[in-house]
Amino acid sequence: MNSAIGPYKGGRRFHPSVNLDILKFLAFEQTFKNSLTSLPMGSGKGGADFDPKDKSDAEIMRFCQAFITELYRHIGPNLDIPAGDIGVGAREVGYMFGMYKKLTNEFTGTFTGKGFAFGGSRIRPEATGYGCVYFVEEMMKTRHSGLEGKKTLISGSGNVAQFAARKVLDLGGKVLTLSDSSGTLFFPQGMTEEDLLHITELKNKPGARLSEATQYLNAEYLESQRPWHIPCDIALPCATQNELDEDNARTLIKNNCQVVAEGANMPCTLAAIDIFRDAHILFAPGKAANAGGVSVSGLEMSQNSLRLNWTSGEVDERLHSIMQRIHHSCIEYGTVDGTTGYVRGANIAGFVKVADAMLAQGVV
Ligand code: NDP
Repeated sequence: MNSAIGPYKGGRRFHPSVNLDILKFLAFEQTFKNSLTSLPMGSGKGGADFDPKDKSDAEIMRFCQAFITELYRHIGPNLDIPAGDIGVGAREVGYMFGMYKKLTNEFTGTFTGKGFAFGGSRIRPEATGYGCVYFVEEMMKTRHSGLEGKKTLISGSGNVAQFAARKVLDLGGKVLTLSDSSGTLFFPQGMTEEDLLHITELKNKPGARLSEATQYLNAEYLESQRPWHIPCDIALPCATQNELDEDNARTLIKNNCQVVAEGANMPCTLAAIDIFRDAHILFAPGKAANAGGVSVSGLEMSQNSLRLNWTSGEVDERLHSIMQRIHHSCIEYGTVDGTTGYVRGANIAGFVKVADAMLAQGVV
């Protein structure tokens, strides 16, 4: 999509819904997210309408190898660095990396999201959830507040949701919910460390449902319900697109929610975002709030180029300061007459850097 500020960078998606239009829109959005991270990354996206569901491990491996047999000509450590996305996790990245290495006869940092043993970064699985909560911490500071004791709704129970919950607990907040596509697990007194450990163990089993967790936990299972009707201070939609609509937004405001930050990609509908804006609550779009994942992918590229592995602490510290910088850019570009619009700030800050680079390079 764009290589004005660095090599093309974005996920590869394997899902039956994949088509060129979807990849173009995802790559377009990736341009501004990558620019916001302040790391030298351009943007791209790719994939196939291959459906990995119900395929054997061997079939997945053969598909990844066949895919790279063509794609290897178009990627490289200074050209295009693919990552994972829907249907493409560490296993698929490993298979693609292996085939790429075989065809090029080189060991390079051409993929991110690799296994730690062959160039992956510490803190990559945690990065999106942690980064989202670091961003919320900065938003709260603008209202002279913090996460301590704050009631937080989190949707989803996957990678992003689990690590967002982990960080909210670390910062003294109260996690009231997690959810999946079948319902919501509600902890009226707040989730404990043991609860989170138990859910993480459960979710590591393929096909596990949150409804199976209630017998062990101090929680209620709300079948077929989303979390948004529960009174809270902070809402973190971390599951999927369009999971928080107009009605949910009105309910959150009625219940005095102060902050909404998108851990997932586009979980709030446009109508919901308008309602948040009109109510003057703090709303952070995904391109800013969930940029922690791609930021650590950028840090994986840096480690590969340096031929070094940083410790978890080193990567986490860098992630934290990147999220603070993204927040600072949103304030700088999004504040008009003393009011900050994070959507405006993220869009303008991301755009200006890419546009300036393109003009300076004589692209237009
Ligand atoms: P996972 O697949 O690990 O988890 C997704 C979670 O969302 C699961 O708990 C799933 O439940 C739930 N879910 C799916 N569909 C629905 C639905 N219709 N209603 C309610 N819950 C639903 O994904 P991730 O945690 O990695 O990603 C979550 C979101 O964050 C996605 O939008 C992704 O694009 C975005 N994102 C992820 C990044 C990352 O680093 N992982 C980086 C930036 C954005 P179930 O088990 O029932 O399907």
